[in-house]
Amino acid sequence: MTQTRLGNATARSSVITPHSRGEVSTLLKAIVDAGVALKLRDAIYELRMSPLDLRDATLQELPEAGIDLLTLVKDAESLLPLCKNEASPYFCGFGDTGADAAALAGGLLDLFCQQNLINQSFDAPVATFVEIAVLRWLRDLIGYISPMVANVRSVWDVGGIVTTGGTMSNTVAMMLARERRSPGTMQRGVTDPSAHGIVVPKGIGHYSVKAAGTWVGTGAHVIEVPTRGFGYDLEQLDRALVEHAGQVMAVVAYAGDSRTQTIDDLRGIADTVRRRDPKIWLHADACWGLIASFSPALAGRLAGIDTFDSVTVDPHKVMNIPYSLSALLVRDPGVLRTVSSYSDLIMQEDFAFGQVTPFVGTKGWGSLKLWAMMRAHGRSGLAGLAEDRISRALEFCRLIDASPKLIRLHDPHLAAVAFCYLPDGDVERVNYVNKAIHERMLAECRWHVHTFTLPDDNGHIQQGSQVQALRFMANNPRTSTAHMEELIDYIHAVGRAVDVETPNSIKEGV
Ligand SMILES: *Cc1c(COP(=O)(O)O)cnc(C)c1O
Repeated sequence: MTQTRLGNATARSSVITPHSRGEVSTLLKAIVDAGVALKLRDAIYELRMSPLDLRDATLQELPEAGIDLLTLVKDAESLLPLCKNEASPYFCGFGDTGADAAALAGGLLDLFCQQNLINQSFDAPVATFVEIAVLRWLRDLIGYISPMVANVRSVWDVGGIVTTGGTMSNTVAMMLARERRSPGTMQRGVTDPSAHGIVVPKGIGHYSVKAAGTWVGTGAHVIEVPTRGFGYDLEQLDRALVEHAGQVMAVVAYAGDSRTQTIDDLRGIADTVRRRDPKIWLHADACWGLIASFSPALAGRLAGIDTFDSVTVDPHKVMNIPYSLSALLVRDPGVLRTVSSYSDLIMQEDFAFGQVTPFVGTKGWGSLKLWAMMRAHGRSGLAGLAEDRISRALEFCRLIDASPKLIRLHDPHLAAVAFCYLPDGDVERVNYVNKAIHERMLAECRWHVHTFTLPDDNGHIQQGSQVQALRFMANNPRTSTAHMEELIDYIHAVGRAVDVETPNSIKEGV
């Protein structure tokens, strides 16, 4: 019955009209079912093809004739076996599952609503205020004080913007830093790029900050400060500020860096920087660290973040929110005026977000999925989510620590656990074997953990060396203890196998 109705639908009726209502609903329900099945699929991938085979199978001319909706559903579903499923319990590599039911519901509704947050009055009458509410919830979590509701009279009283990702949020933060350092650059352009250095922790900083400098015209003037325990070494930070006095526009700290998710000593950093130069823009990248703010038991780790000028948060990394959704929050809401743009196409009205969102014109209602998620969970639900992830990370730590062949590289602050398989031999061999484990894992497709190089700050393998780490991420509630045990067994088995194949030149340390 369903099939006939869909099968009879013509391309013409694929727009929603009173006449096509039933067909369109059936189509969309079929897609929702396929999406839910994808999330519940155990396999990360069901089918793997080389990029070139995918290219040849996919890059085809647009056919002259359209297809009926039933065929369309089938065609779309045929892509899914080739898609990665981050909600698989075997995917322990990166961010989040995007599987929160309320967030998915909010995201689906957003697709239908076609609100445009560039303007408020006629484009996004209530959506604008839902977005403001969410931004205020996020501000509250990290400890920023917001104006009383009665004093929210324009977008310049909100203190944040919703963006497409942490990269965009960090980029806008660097624009703000640039305007603080050289007011009026928005109009005049950059005249002295070398005075706009960005201080980052060496080997830890996320590439987006350096990229932001290139995008906002201040150049790739990144000043790297050595780390200790995967965060800033405060003495070295102080030294760098003295050495580069007058050349720094921003210091970027990490509330959860993108490798070990270590939370910097935010209070110590703020004190150090303000003592040397109170004009320097202090930015906290809390893409991962946001979750610590959910739980009173964990929030102490973020102490001092509320004194930073701006904070990036990435709900699509830590709240099971479908891609993509980030926010930049600023301590002083009015500061967004310094990067505002004016056009007679954007309403000069109080609540038009188009005035405060650099790089963006038409702006969808992505915040609806975050609003739905936060409403559904409430404060206590968010606390539970954070605590659950941290306890799962600690559980994984216990399993690592119980194995003489595995070594943990840090005490996790959040959900990331970085570790190495330990063959007999020096750092070169450790790195060779761990890289080989990861390659084999990717080729076999059953499990996924991430890999990257890391300064061995805690000297677990060899102080001062760069080590090839593997990383488990405890973000997925479907990854049970049994899965973790199975993963550890798997890494042991692959580690043994690749170690045997280590070339003699590396074994002998030549
Ligand atoms: C992921 C990440 C970013 C970039 O965020 P996107 O959402 O990928 O654009 C920035 N900083 C850190 C620490 C990250 O982990």
